[in-house]
Amino acid sequence: MRRAVISDVHGNLHALKAVLDSVDRYSPDQIVSLGDTVGYGAHPSECIALVRQRCGIVLAGNHDWGVCGRQSLVWFNPYAREAALWTREKLDPTEIQWLDSLPLAHRDGELLFVHASPLEPENWEYIDSLMSAERALESVDARIVFIGHSHCAEIYRVNEQMLVNVGSVGQPRDGDPRARWCLVDDKTMRPELIAVDYDIRGAMEAIHAAGLPEMLAERLEAGW
Ligand code: ZN
Repeated sequence: MRRAVISDVHGNLHALKAVLDSVDRYSPDQIVSLGDTVGYGAHPSECIALVRQRCGIVLAGNHDWGVCGRQSLVWFNPYAREAALWTREKLDPTEIQWLDSLPLAHRDGELLFVHASPLEPENWEYIDSLMSAERALESVDARIVFIGHSHCAEIYRVNEQMLVNVGSVGQPRDGDPRARWCLVDDKTMRPELIAVDYDIRGAMEAIHAAGLPEMLAERLEAGW
């Protein structure tokens, strides 16, 4: 089975459409989304609709929980909190209910999918070093663990196990502003990180027009 894995769409419809166009060129059997469909970007409803339509598996992220009220916003920075409250206002009750219903993890054979970390996924720990990747991999017997959350696309290898951060569709933070996704075939078990150009200007203008913090637009261009 060939899978596309996406994460951290964050309401960026311009980036999501470009990523789905790229995904379609590879005709995978399934698309998995690791969560944070909303928060930060100007098109939360449109992104929810497209993710629901296109992704066979969709997980919960911390911003999804913040927006639907399942988690307090006190841990969010001021920009994230403002965007979460703005997003909550924009969504209808069925969309809020859908965010509230998403699972924290998905296991399929030797593959495990989770938003932040397989170690207590509801604590949204960041994995950003080999040490934290080793600790996370020790806690599971899956051969490949797919995560998002930090918005930095990278792969950690520890013995026979791999931890793959698929990066972010809608708000990359590793210095490369292109949208990311990951292709994996469970025959070869060789995940491939793919970067996609998209209409960053369009996404920035939408954030501006929505009255969201300007910093959320600027960071898209910088990729931070
Ligand atoms: Zn995120």
